[in-house]
Formats: sequence, C-alpha cells, structure tokens
Amino acid sequence: MPGLGCTSLPEISDLIGDCHRCPLGDTRTNIVFGVGDPNARVMFVGEAPGKNEDLKGEPFVGAAGQLLNELLAHAGLKRSDVYIANVLKCRPPGNRDPEAVEIETCTPFLREQIRVISPDVLVTLGNFSTKFVLRTDVGITRLHGKPQPAGRFTVLPIFHPAAAIYDRTKRDALFADFEVLAGLLAEKTTPTPSDDAIAGEMPAPAEPDQTTLF
Ligand code: URA
Repeated sequence: MPGLGCTSLPEISDLIGDCHRCPLGDTRTNIVFGVGDPNARVMFVGEAPGKNEDLKGEPFVGAAGQLLNELLAHAGLKRSDVYIANVLKCRPPGNRDPEAVEIETCTPFLREQIRVISPDVLVTLGNFSTKFVLRTDVGITRLHGKPQPAGRFTVLPIFHPAAAIYDRTKRDALFADFEVLAGLLAEKTTPTPSDDAIAGEMPAPAEPDQTTLF
C-alpha cells in the first residue's frame, strides 16, 4: 500500500482531522493520535485507546500506562524518549475488539506514522498489535521477547501491560523483554568495524515490501 505522502506527524494529524471515516468517530471523546519523540528510535504500538486514553487523548495513561512507564525506566528510557501509538486511534465502545472496517480505515495513518518516525525498533504490545504488524497467526506467548526482522525495522513483540497487571509471570516476562529491548538499542548504537567500512557505500533503505505492513 503506498504511503500518504506526509513528511511530519502534524501533517498526519491534520489529515486525520475530526475523523468520522468509521463509526468510532461517533462514540469517541478524543482521537488518540500518539505521543512522544518524533525522532524516537523505539516506537510502541498498542491495540486501541481505553476509557482513560479516550478522555485524555493520550495513549497508555491508565494502569497499563503506569506499568509501561516502569518498564521503560527498567530499560533506561522515559516516555519522552520513545513514541507510543495504537492500531486504532479511537476507543471501541466498552473496549471491545477492533473490527475489520475500523482497522482498514485507521491503519493507513499508523503506517504513515511509522514511516515518518522510522524507528529502529517497533515494539508491539500484546497479541492484537503483534498479529497486525507481523501478519502472523503465531501467538504472543510464543513470540514475546524474540526480535523479528520486518522490512527495515526490528519488531519486538511483548505481552500487553494490561495483561500483566495481575499476572506475576507475564510481569516478569515483560521486565525481561525490556532488557532485550535495551540490548537491541545498545547493539544498534555501537558501530561495528564493518559498519564503518561500508557506511560510505550503503544503498538507500529498501522501500517497504508492499505485501506486508512495511
Ligand atoms: N491499551 C492499549 O492497547 N492502548 C492504550 O492506549 C491503552 C490501553
């Protein structure tokens, strides 16, 4: 799918406007566009805004968001160092699962955010986001903490923080997976001799594979 031709996040936000392209436009309070550093090396993708996010217009501000902040700190990161968005920008009523028409209508804007931010690592939070980004049927229990190459990015699937609030095992797994994230970032920061040697002759990054999300 071709991009939307935006060169900045405000341009994408303007394009979304006061969106009523799908029925969620009639029930939401606020569009939850995304938050964080437009030049972030790490971008998190959750499922959809919940009640608190809908009221505030910001992703991950409820209990799951608090755990996310703790996890970020564990990896030496702050919210302002990363970018956080969701597959859907409007809250599905009662936090029901997103529907196909909503995903189809909304995700060109997420793809454009990913294209503009161009992070090194895309962290997918939970089953829904992981299945959407990786186009896979493999569940999060098998995939979490295992970096997956996807187009020009590395995708790191992790459990959804909301699923870990009352589940000690998932919580421990999340903290371990944030150590994997810290390792990935350190790896990508430290140039190897071969990187130096070929830096001058690096080809332009490949265009996204049109058959996948990227
Ligand atoms: N859960 C999500 O997937 N996204 C949010 O923004 C909040 C909770």
